[in-house]
Amino acid sequence: MLTLQGIAVSPGVAIAKAVVLNADDRAVVRESIAVSQVPAEQKRLQAALDASREEVGKQMAATASSLGSELAGIFGFHQGMLADRHLIEQLNQQIKTEKVKAEYAVFSVFSRLADTFLAQDNAFFRERVTDIYDLKRRVLRQFHGRAETSDEATLAAIKTPTILVARDLTPSQTVNLDKTCIRAIVTDLGGRTSHTAILAHALGIPAVVGVADISQTIHSGDTVIVDGNEGVVLVNPDANSLLKYRQLLEREAKAERSRGALRDLPAVTSDGTRFALMTNIEFPDEIPAALEKGAEGVGLFRTEYLFLGNDHEPDEDEQFAAYAMAVKLLGGRPLTIRTLDLGADKQDSAIESLRRIENEPNPFLGCRSIRLCLLDVPLFRTQLRAILRASALGPVRIMFPLISHLSELRQAKMVLSDAMHDLADRGMAFDRHIRIGMMVEVPSAAIQATAFAKEVDFFSIGTNDLVQYTVAVDRGNERVANLYTDAHPAVLHLIKEVIRAANRAKIEVSLCGEMGGNLAFVPLLAGLGLRHFSITPPAIPQVKELIRSVGLERCKRIARKAGSFDTEQEVTAFLHSELEKTALGA
Ligand code: PEP
Ligand code: MG
Repeated sequence: MLTLQGIAVSPGVAIAKAVVLNADDRAVVRESIAVSQVPAEQKRLQAALDASREEVGKQMAATASSLGSELAGIFGFHQGMLADRHLIEQLNQQIKTEKVKAEYAVFSVFSRLADTFLAQDNAFFRERVTDIYDLKRRVLRQFHGRAETSDEATLAAIKTPTILVARDLTPSQTVNLDKTCIRAIVTDLGGRTSHTAILAHALGIPAVVGVADISQTIHSGDTVIVDGNEGVVLVNPDANSLLKYRQLLEREAKAERSRGALRDLPAVTSDGTRFALMTNIEFPDEIPAALEKGAEGVGLFRTEYLFLGNDHEPDEDEQFAAYAMAVKLLGGRPLTIRTLDLGADKQDSAIESLRRIENEPNPFLGCRSIRLCLLDVPLFRTQLRAILRASALGPVRIMFPLISHLSELRQAKMVLSDAMHDLADRGMAFDRHIRIGMMVEVPSAAIQATAFAKEVDFFSIGTNDLVQYTVAVDRGNERVANLYTDAHPAVLHLIKEVIRAANRAKIEVSLCGEMGGNLAFVPLLAGLGLRHFSITPPAIPQVKELIRSVGLERCKRIARKAGSFDTEQEVTAFLHSELEKTALGA
């Protein structure tokens, strides 16, 4: 059994067989063999080379008939390499002299060959390096008895309970996962609020990220336990661990069933203070499940997901259809639609203006989010018209992300007013008094909250970005993940000031970052005066249970004490010890 530690980003426990993505590119572990096994390994090598040659031959014939013999000739190099006596001799020698398995011989000989080609002055050799990598993958695949697959084909083929292991997943890969089969996600890369992590949480899939090199350690077919509460991954667990985690799974299922009874009860503290528990969504079809969990509306609709992984840019009608669908599914409950938050780690989209900002040296500080919308006003105005049209159908609000300057907010409102004129000219209905809000997720906006509060109807605190920008830590980088913490006193100070500014200005303030779903922080936020939470659907029952079990006076005491510490370690230890004293901590 192998025990690995990563960053827990989505709670829950899962036990299933692993499927590893990007497996063809992983390093092969050096495994030694006895002298007596050498002939058998050389035979395996021969079989893998023969099967590869056969594959290449088939591919060559298919290419010749579809694209002509000239293009089919590309595979001639592959055929030649696979039949090269010198190369085959080197592979056999490696098995024999170093006493290693055939896979390792293929991995190391082909890797060395690629390095030699790369070091050549001659362009012909350098250009052949991708062919060498391709050949290496092809031969290695034969040892696993797998036909050629791409990640997409691997994902589509998953039909049984699976732990998905990958170096990283793109946001569009994550949203397209088949939730009925994917029991947990484990990745090499990522941090607590990387978008893969947030999506996994939203989908209710346990996830552990930042487990260094796990995609190279685990093999497809290994049995894996993922503990998304503690960030632990057990590979090929022993009988004791299996028993322990099976029991935990049963207890979790039982607790979840009992929380179901809370669904229709209000989120109100023991001394009568009412809270609104809204949810975050990426697509309208998440709404029914969120309502099942007790969501009272949508506090954050991340509309950029309509654009991510899409081969075309959704036009006004297509966007309107999605927003109208969300309004309909909510049946009169409020819907806060955030305008496009593309750029930085959300690049996987067909929109033209993203090409203009490709290769920015510092994408998280570059032309992302509202800045991109103000660069491409037609794109922005189209989206605003679609949102406005949906506002004729139910209680819709607009929210602008990543506002850092008052001038940006004012420009965004001007484009909104132009979009209103467009619709008025067309004689189309919309809510002329639509509520306008902004995310507070940049320190400059938090520090200037009093000024911003005069110009919007509501704030929503985006702690995922607010933490990243306050402590200068990339939210998706596992190397610095230990520095990324909601509990940093500077972050708590900013949140406190934003809530205070909003309450003084008598505008609504909500919090839609992942922090709101973290139970240890809920009493603190309540004590600071927050009454609106927007969280992932799976977090709703537990947050409600916690709110119903505490009194507001205690929350205020917790907030005062938490604000007196100088280090995040003290804050974290204190908040956890307070949580321990509640029914949920037990
Ligand atoms: C945030 O930054 O806290 C937030 C909610 O937005 P996103 O995670 O989409 O950046
Ligand atoms: Mg954000």
